[in-house]
Amino acid sequence: MKFKSNYLQEVYDGLEKHYPEQKEFLEAVGEVLMSLEPVVAKNPKLEEDNVIGRLVEPERVILFRVPWIDDNGKVQVNRGYRVQFNSAIGPYKGGLRFHPTVNLSILKFLGFEQIFKNSLTGLPIGGGKGGSDFDPKGKSDREVMKFCQSFMTELAKHIGADTDVPAGDIGVGGREIGYLYGQYKRIRNEFTGVLTGKGLTYGGSLARTEATGFGLCYYTEEALKTLKNDSFKGKTVVISGSGNVAIYACQKATELGGKVITMSDSNGYVVAPNGIKLDVVKQIKEVERGRIKEYPARANDGSEYHEGCSGVWGTKADIYLPCATQNEIDGESAKKIVANGAIAVCEGSNMPSTPEAIEEYKKAGIMFGPAKAANAGGVATSALEMSQNSERLSWTFEEVDEKLQGIMKNIVHNSIDAAARYGCDGDLQIGANIAGFEKVANAMLAQGIAY
Ligand code: NDP
Repeated sequence: MKFKSNYLQEVYDGLEKHYPEQKEFLEAVGEVLMSLEPVVAKNPKLEEDNVIGRLVEPERVILFRVPWIDDNGKVQVNRGYRVQFNSAIGPYKGGLRFHPTVNLSILKFLGFEQIFKNSLTGLPIGGGKGGSDFDPKGKSDREVMKFCQSFMTELAKHIGADTDVPAGDIGVGGREIGYLYGQYKRIRNEFTGVLTGKGLTYGGSLARTEATGFGLCYYTEEALKTLKNDSFKGKTVVISGSGNVAIYACQKATELGGKVITMSDSNGYVVAPNGIKLDVVKQIKEVERGRIKEYPARANDGSEYHEGCSGVWGTKADIYLPCATQNEIDGESAKKIVANGAIAVCEGSNMPSTPEAIEEYKKAGIMFGPAKAANAGGVATSALEMSQNSERLSWTFEEVDEKLQGIMKNIVHNSIDAAARYGCDGDLQIGANIAGFEKVANAMLAQGIAY
């Protein structure tokens, strides 16, 4: 990766030398540092105090063994992680991912992204991420419970309502958060807001389940209105994934007047030309924990199932909302999106577009809403859950949803303003990186160098 600034080059090369195997992490850092070229050029203090060099190293990484006993009485072992990346503006905050692909590179990329995302929300939360290579798929509820209890037995030593507040992510939904919270409470004897995404009977916030998907659509709607004088109304929408983010993105995009025609999972995707029937998807995925290939027979709406993930990007639509996982759109898939005449790609999943894909969108003038801005509604609402826990109150769905809408609109405008200040008018990606960075960098400068 080539930078104009010698300082940025030195930081990036050093990182590449230390962590050559951490591809996802290097990709995420490279993407942010590229956007910071003009900021570093204008603010020599960033180099003098080596703010970037400090920013790319996590404050702390915790790695631990997670032993648990399966239903056959066999002792299993997984790896557990928590990356406490940056606490300059608030306690570490970020989800836990349980998926067989989890490793340190993926968690460091997610934790790094989380720093800027959390800053963009305007709320006082630092960046962190964690998880395990445990796969909840195909496990019984009891096995998931035993794993979560063992995971939390170690994690509890390192987190707290004012220190580090984890949440859900891929493979960690309401069931897992419940088991994790129960174990934290048993160990610490404290009923505090140490996790977010909790159930409504024990401190959860209304609208948290919906927040990432709804927030993605509020962001997309506001950006379309501001930059393209357009909206979801009458548009066809391709969504990938069929998990938490995808389901509620589908709901809100439909409510805003769009027609969602695809959803997918890691095996394949469905195309429903008349619009996805979300109640069928919810029943299959949320209630039965089934597969998306069951959709056509159940919905009986003329839809078709196709094996494989990347084909979904060849489906013609106006707006594309990737909501499954990282690097799901490569340069080739992005070329198909461009050829389909897309007007916007806004990211629900974290880093779904490779650098080559982003280049294709930009060349074609497609409006590109990067994940750290477009999917920040989830963590923003988690922070609202923390506020409600602190004041021992529960706000109504409407109150939370209204705050979420305000936050997503602010993210759009703060990104546009930051981009304009550095001569990159209308670039939501550069704007999000700069706006997220500025607050964290100022806090790091103000707090001095610890030695
Ligand atoms: P879920 O576990 O609820 O759903 C994930 C979905 O993505 C499933 O449909 C899953 O299919 C699919 N998927 C997972 N891995 C892959 C893969 N390797 N290839 C293709 N499809 C895959 O997770 P969420 O909806 O919570 O998260 C989705 C994305 O959104 C992630 O990138 C996450 O980091 C991001 N995100 C989530 C937030 C939240 O609040 N939940 C907040 C901000 C970002 P299958 O069932 O086959 O695994």
